[in-house]
Amino acid sequence: MSDIVERLKANIVAPTLLSDAADTIESLRQQLSQREEELKKEELLCNDIFKSREALREELDRLRRELSAVKQKLEATEREWDEMYDGGNCSCHINPPCDSCTHEGNPIGLEETDEAWEPDNE
Ligand SMILES: [Zn+2]
Repeated sequence: MSDIVERLKANIVAPTLLSDAADTIESLRQQLSQREEELKKEELLCNDIFKSREALREELDRLRRELSAVKQKLEATEREWDEMYDGGNCSCHINPPCDSCTHEGNPIGLEETDEAWEPDNE
């Protein structure tokens, strides 16, 4: 008799347990798929950040090379001026502005503006 009761219990309880377990598994599966979606989005965001960081790094490298080229050109022009005019040899007192002062390699001349060559009225 008790054997039959046990079997009946098992037949009622077991399906309920299985159904609960199935619900739990389904709920966990949904959470997992939701988390996977979130991770995908985060991964895309990380890729974007990484790409823009790479782009910025390349742009910075390009600007550094450009700056270095400009610096070298400027130094070469200054050396040229220094060799041509021995670091000065201004002849503005004869005929302003002189070639030394207007040479683009003249470090002082580079700071001059057109207005600087206007005659002083005072
Ligand atoms: Zn001069």
